[in-house]
Amino acid sequence: MEWSTSIQYVKGVGEKRAALFAKLDIRTVGDLLSHYPRDYEDWSHPLAIADAPYGRPCCVRAYVVSAPREHYIRKGMVLYKFTVSDGHDGMHVTLFNAKYTAEKLKVNMPIYLFGTVSGNFHMREMSAPLIELDPAADRLRPIYPQTGGLNSHAIEKVVKAAMLALGSAMDADPLPPDLRDRYRLMPRGEALRAIHFPKNHEQAARARERLAFEECLLLQLGLFRLKGRSRGETGVRISQNHTPDYEKLLPFSLTGAQRRAIAECVADLHSGYPMSRLVQGDVGSGKTAVAAGVAYTLIREGWQAALMAPTEILAAQHAATLSKLLEGSGIRVGLLTGSLRAAEKRAVLAGLADGSIQLVVGTHALLSDTVQFARLGLVITDEQHRFGVAQRAALAAKGARPHLLVMSATPIPRTLALIIYGDLDVSILDELPPGRQPIETFAVGSDKRDRAYAYVRKHVEAGRQAYVVCPLVEDEQPDEDGRLPECTLASATAYADKLREGVLAGCRVGLLHGRMKAADKDAVMLAFSHGELDVLVATTVIEVGVDVPNAVIMVIENAERFGLAQMHQLRGRVGRGHHKSTCILISDNHGDVTRARLKAMTRTTDGFRIADEDLKLRGPGDFFGNRQHGLPRLKLIVSTGDMALIAQAQDAAAAMLADDPLLQAPENRPLARQVEALFAEVGEQGLN
Ligand code: ADP
Ligand code: MG
Repeated sequence: MEWSTSIQYVKGVGEKRAALFAKLDIRTVGDLLSHYPRDYEDWSHPLAIADAPYGRPCCVRAYVVSAPREHYIRKGMVLYKFTVSDGHDGMHVTLFNAKYTAEKLKVNMPIYLFGTVSGNFHMREMSAPLIELDPAADRLRPIYPQTGGLNSHAIEKVVKAAMLALGSAMDADPLPPDLRDRYRLMPRGEALRAIHFPKNHEQAARARERLAFEECLLLQLGLFRLKGRSRGETGVRISQNHTPDYEKLLPFSLTGAQRRAIAECVADLHSGYPMSRLVQGDVGSGKTAVAAGVAYTLIREGWQAALMAPTEILAAQHAATLSKLLEGSGIRVGLLTGSLRAAEKRAVLAGLADGSIQLVVGTHALLSDTVQFARLGLVITDEQHRFGVAQRAALAAKGARPHLLVMSATPIPRTLALIIYGDLDVSILDELPPGRQPIETFAVGSDKRDRAYAYVRKHVEAGRQAYVVCPLVEDEQPDEDGRLPECTLASATAYADKLREGVLAGCRVGLLHGRMKAADKDAVMLAFSHGELDVLVATTVIEVGVDVPNAVIMVIENAERFGLAQMHQLRGRVGRGHHKSTCILISDNHGDVTRARLKAMTRTTDGFRIADEDLKLRGPGDFFGNRQHGLPRLKLIVSTGDMALIAQAQDAAAAMLADDPLLQAPENRPLARQVEALFAEVGEQGLN
């Protein structure tokens, strides 16, 4: 038996069960052994009945008081009821359809039961426990993710059978011995045995660590190599850096971080290899100016650039911003979105095809077959998490190996960035343009809502603007009690009306929500940015990118419904001008997670610190979620969430490749093969 042997041939499986295993994505013996337990049944410390906790599975030692009695419930359903005692306390036990077990049980027989105790002090109960007559002492049993018809104990048996059949094949270890020594890692076979059948929790944890380290190492090696492979040479190169001329166009001087990021990009443009770079920077850090600078240099050298944005509003705004930034440069900026009229669209398409439009901003419409470029040299995508890698690649395919720049306003810790964006180089904008006032943030209950809106009103009267964000648009009417609706699920539509009639009477209140037509959205957004509206009530469509420097207050209703990163994004809509800005988070939810999030928001406005906080609260799983497709399946890294371990594995990968870039040394060959296998799933162009 080998790793690649079909699960069907493992003892006790067969065709029918193999189909059940397939539901768990288990097809081979290798898949089976990397179907790791999510937890363990602890049989090693059996408890007396009085000591068994309520509602949490545990092992109880007792003896049978009354032999199981059959109760027919209906066809195909038989209950067995009996009583056990440990000499002090009694407990009722119910088994379902467990004829075989029930018939084994005789009065006075000592048994071990593993299950969850319910009932009360007078009579405890255990429903459907696992029963053993003689569990080997000191034992943890694996609890596997299971599926209908295939429970954890059935999987356990098959895992055991597979391990037996594999024999010494289990001990093949792709990690070179000196690496294992350096990081004190268990040999692979030992780790596999221990993660499935540990002696104790400590051993299970060490096994998990070892396997997570390996997973992370493979991932890093693979990503590094993919990066290398996708970098065949490109003809898109420059002979000169035009950034100094670009700076002369700007009404402000670049921040140090912006200058660094542009320089890193320009170095890529010189290199003769296509750039693949992520510019990570907090909201308001000036990523657009960086992108424009990079585009400027390429355009001056005769190339075209395309910027793809996730929404029409953003595309329009970027087009406007870029036209303004590049005013006087002679560069023509075009806008291409789905809602363009046919004649406008034709003009833009013609301009792109003949090269007279040098910079185009658009939505997904850019991906259409009708869009052809004369000399596409740079692809920029905004707010990376809204685009799949495939879309990036589709736009890039319209040129001959153009450079790629990705802008993300969702800062994530560097360690994670290295995994999640492992195929990209990373530039970080860790400095805000000068003159920004820190945004003051308050978290309040709905009892303070009227005060919050009085505050909004005061600022509107002083000529400022404000956003109010509600999490959902619903048709149902809010409570009619003469006051503002209770903070249950604020309905943006009804809410806007309420505000217009109530606390914000006399203010010009606009509404923006996801169900509006694109043209209507744009009209509202435009009106707001021209100062024709004082308050914009919105759902999260304003989350990304929108820039109205005169807006100084952000009110977030039902703040508990937003993730930390999302709230931070929303807050970034204010504090963009020279006026002092405020963010007010309204929530009546007092749950621990909500409280921790709100507290983090009030404590810092630094996106990277928010991201760290978010990571602590949620674990890394959600970060991977953003980009899960395109990456190989990650089983352990995500669940361990051990950042130190991830960092170690990254160091190890870097050191290894520094010594042996192609992993050709004999001791590295097995690892190289595993990397290839892991990335075979992703496919050749998956990460380009
Ligand atoms: P981001 O996309 O990173 O959130 P933007 O590119 O939208 O940020 O920039 C936010 C605002 O800051 C814009 O109004 C922009 O014109 C301005 N800005 C950008 N760079 C600078 C700078 N170096 N100095 C002053 N203002 C800047
Ligand atoms: Mg932006």
